[in-house]
Amino acid sequence: MTVDLHVHSTASDGTDEPAELIRRAARLGLRTVALTDHDTLAGIGAARESAAAEGIELIPGTELSVDWPTGKMHLLVYFLEPGTGPLQDRLQWLRDGRRERNAAILERLHDLGFEISMSEVEARAAGPSVGRPHIADSLVARGYFTSRSEAFIDLLGDGGRAYAERRRLPAAEAIRLARDSDAVPVIAHPYTVGLSRDEYAAAFEELTALGLGGIEAFYPEHSPVLREHLAGLAASLGIVATGGSDYHGTGKPDIELGVGHGDLAVPPAVVGALHAAKRR
Ligand code: AMP
Ligand code: ZN
Ligand code: FE
Ligand code: FE
Repeated sequence: MTVDLHVHSTASDGTDEPAELIRRAARLGLRTVALTDHDTLAGIGAARESAAAEGIELIPGTELSVDWPTGKMHLLVYFLEPGTGPLQDRLQWLRDGRRERNAAILERLHDLGFEISMSEVEARAAGPSVGRPHIADSLVARGYFTSRSEAFIDLLGDGGRAYAERRRLPAAEAIRLARDSDAVPVIAHPYTVGLSRDEYAAAFEELTALGLGGIEAFYPEHSPVLREHLAGLAASLGIVATGGSDYHGTGKPDIELGVGHGDLAVPPAVVGALHAAKRR
């Protein structure tokens, strides 16, 4: 395995610092890594420096949660450079929405008898993108649960007792902003989008017309059959079938860089195809 195009660092809700994550990737034999922290590019500088030192390729990126009629969709945005730009300028607005939502979640937790303060949640986050995983970590630190995922199952998961919505960009707008920022938007882990296998084609055709550049086919939670189906769909739409582990360090203890549960294999040719997709 040499490629991983979906990883999170301490700039959002992963547990490895960006430079540490890149060193780990190099040690594991990866040649290309895309850092895709939620709603932030704060880790890119350190990751890029580390990648240069290790002699591996770093693709800058981010992961957005976007609105889509049938449910929530995540969008990976590749080649998005730190600094200003059409999409870059919206990231702060998205992070402000996280702050509002975190306050609403803490309020609900309080009503349910779980006492957690915003300052302790923010202290659990090393970077600017604070979210439910950090709230889960605070609940674990207080002894209410023994792992992040237990807190999600009981309280924080979508539709859970303490769940609150947060602001999102509509999918079409996020795709347009990404292209206007010279970046390549890709649908992340389509199994979460709330569509049946037969419905993917029409939905992704519509998004491809808007500028979608790829589909994350190779993903740990996708069965071998679904990986092949989505790769075929991407090929038929003329866009890239990408892949990545969604590594979060100890935040997702069963997922390793590059290989996911052990059976992930992102074809190295994806990297060249993704670079080519930038010019479309
Ligand atoms: P947020 O970005 O605040 O909406 O939180 C979503 C993040 O929480 C995801 O990107 C995952 O990293 C994490 N997450 C979601 N579900 C679980 C779970 N069941 N166990 C652990 N982490 C989870
Ligand atoms: Zn995450
Ligand atoms: Fe995601
Ligand atoms: Fe992710």
